[in-house]
Amino acid sequence: MWLRDSTLEEIVKDAWLDGVRKGLRSNPSALVGGCAGKLKEWNKTTFGHVQRNIRAKVELLKVLQNQTRISCVHINPAERDFLYWDASPNGVFTCKSAYWIAIQSMDRLQESQHERKYLKAVWLANVPGKVKIFVWRACMNLVPTINNLVTRGLVPNSFNCVHCSTPMEDVKHALFLCDWARDIWVDMELSDLTNQVADISIEEMLGATKESKNGKFELMLMLMWRIWCARNSKAHGQGDLDKNIVKQSADGMLQEFSRVNQPTEAFTAPHNAPSRAWSAPTYGVIKINCNAGVLGNNGVSGLGFVMRSHNGLVLLAGSKRLAFTMSVIEAEAKAILWAIQEAQAKGFAKVVLETDSSILVDAFKHNKVLYHIRALFLHIRRLCLLFDSCTWSFVRREGNKVAHELARLAVTDNVDVLYDGYVPLSVQALAQHDVNLIV
Ligand SMILES: [Zn+2]
Repeated sequence: MWLRDSTLEEIVKDAWLDGVRKGLRSNPSALVGGCAGKLKEWNKTTFGHVQRNIRAKVELLKVLQNQTRISCVHINPAERDFLYWDASPNGVFTCKSAYWIAIQSMDRLQESQHERKYLKAVWLANVPGKVKIFVWRACMNLVPTINNLVTRGLVPNSFNCVHCSTPMEDVKHALFLCDWARDIWVDMELSDLTNQVADISIEEMLGATKESKNGKFELMLMLMWRIWCARNSKAHGQGDLDKNIVKQSADGMLQEFSRVNQPTEAFTAPHNAPSRAWSAPTYGVIKINCNAGVLGNNGVSGLGFVMRSHNGLVLLAGSKRLAFTMSVIEAEAKAILWAIQEAQAKGFAKVVLETDSSILVDAFKHNKVLYHIRALFLHIRRLCLLFDSCTWSFVRREGNKVAHELARLAVTDNVDVLYDGYVPLSVQALAQHDVNLIV
């Protein structure tokens, strides 16, 4: 910083000559000392307290950033401000939602410190939801084993394991270490892994199974569930279940579940499925495709829209970067609002508003106010009433590529532009592709 300042040289030179004039030529240390004193004085008057200045500038930047963010908040003069609870869909506080927030933050804390990462594999497994929940409860020791019932002050029917009469059955015993369960794990060639729960947690054992890549992770989860069901039916007086039946039912359930959840032609393309490709509106109607993207965590977003007629002709397109949005939904809604305002400025009367945000389409179609963007939502809804006709359409991403690309360009090229009757060169091929789909 010092060296880049042009006055530095002059200060040293003047201080040196001043020393010489005072007869200090033969005393170099006094000359240098004089220079140092002058430099100190010059530094203080020119730069002040550097650290303090940097801190002040950082604070100023923060204020400016907040001002930019505040200026991005959508103000709807037609609506009064109101308080809402962010964690409920209807904006009303409930204990349940507050509890959920608390659990989420605890989970995040535990995940960062602990082996909770293995539970992710459970939630992602291709098994029924009830099995995932059961396995999660087993990992958290929330299964009503005899040990857990007694710990919570309840009196079970028996204090011994229903299969082997071991006293104070706990979750590891019930699912893995009881001889009855062990036989099943041995038959399924999983006992090497399950026996480890004597020394490690169930989660860690599941993690080891997943990492072993033996292809039996899902089967293990299913068997845990079936073993627990068999244990319960015996505890409730329904007798011993044949171990072979337990194995077969776990295997059968797993196969059936995989088969049903396998995407097939029939499942992926029912006749009323949302379209994957852009389709032209009917004659006289303008289709407005909107999209938005949020860049990273700093809230910068890009908005894009394109308005086309029944023959795919581009009437108007737009690409705009916003300095800050709170969420993707807010950005998507802002893209829609912008497009509506431009369509009305053009005098378009009949429109189809199309986006790949199913949440927004569902909310507008069924008039479900989205409370976290309430002002924006109500503003859009009010403007929609000004059209002669206005319908909503959901399209999958593949069918919304032109608007998507316009939104992406807004972020990368930092533009704020309307294209009257055309789209930029880099988007033309996508627009032509849509036209080619018109039959
Ligand atoms: Zn037992």
